[in-house]
Amino acid sequence: MPPQLSPSSFSHFRSSKITTTAQFTLLRPRAPNHRPLLARTPVRLASQRGPRRTQYNRFGNAQTIYSVWKTSPNFRYGVGAVSLSIGGIYYYNFEQVPISGRWRFNCISPAREEAMAKSQYQGITQAYGREILPPSHPDSKMVNKVLQRLIPAAGLEGQNWEVKVIDDPEEMNAFVLPGGKVFVFSGILSICAGEDGLAAVLGHEIAHNVAHHTGEKLSQMFYLIPLALLLTLTFDISGQLSQFLLGIAFERPGSREMESEADYIGLLMMAKACYDPNAAVRLWERMAQADAEQHTTPQLLSSHPASKNRMTVIQEWLPEAQQKRAESPCGDTTGYMDDFRSAFGHGDDGFW
Ligand SMILES: [Zn+2]
Repeated sequence: MPPQLSPSSFSHFRSSKITTTAQFTLLRPRAPNHRPLLARTPVRLASQRGPRRTQYNRFGNAQTIYSVWKTSPNFRYGVGAVSLSIGGIYYYNFEQVPISGRWRFNCISPAREEAMAKSQYQGITQAYGREILPPSHPDSKMVNKVLQRLIPAAGLEGQNWEVKVIDDPEEMNAFVLPGGKVFVFSGILSICAGEDGLAAVLGHEIAHNVAHHTGEKLSQMFYLIPLALLLTLTFDISGQLSQFLLGIAFERPGSREMESEADYIGLLMMAKACYDPNAAVRLWERMAQADAEQHTTPQLLSSHPASKNRMTVIQEWLPEAQQKRAESPCGDTTGYMDDFRSAFGHGDDGFW
């Protein structure tokens, strides 16, 4: 039976309606040792000291493991076999992320990823029930319209796409589950300020699926949790290091890298679908502004900080995105319109 995913498995979903159950209880830090340092290391005169002995207290089981390693060939063969197996699994599942070309370890197949997201989809659909707007609602229609243009650009035509717009003007959030299940809270539509802004949000969220970030995050557990346990057992240190490693892996560099990758793939995707990639920069500016005003902090920002650096990086990708749009069937008209706008100094919110 596949593990059940909690909402936290999908980094963008934050809601009070679904409770999170995933906790690394195995790695809970121990209670701190409050014994004073001096009590553990009494000072003795040189004349009182016996023969010098190496102390391994700080390294816990490391000494025992080293002794077994030295005396038992079977232990060494076992460690070698396990290491070779892990290396083989790692090598076999080493792959390149589509579009960005980044290499990473991912042992979760798209089919498995999709199967695991199914229960998540059912849970969210049941939780929001009547708040889900009908497909005939103008908001649902607009989301579906933008989605239909993005799907061919994402190359995900084969998925069973479904759009659920949840009527909640306070919630500024959107996410896409593996398998093509799109959830958009109506609150984010106001900050999108039109189809181009919505394309930026959906492009980013779909990009996480294109890059199979859910599978990658789950795959990280295969080596991070055993690594953290091994470190804890070997050095007999508190679980804080394990927590620290897991924090780094899941919250900081990994997530930032994936977010930036989703920004890049999403930007190219929306441009290929003939949307204006400049809208992505403006969207994050509006998000940051709403956050600064505090009374309307977008929930999407909890996993997507609209930092200045993020906007700067997106701006650096704009020429490539514009090129992508020019190569699309829409390229001639939009390129001409852009030239015309810049020649006459009209901004997007101006005459055009
Ligand atoms: Zn994201």
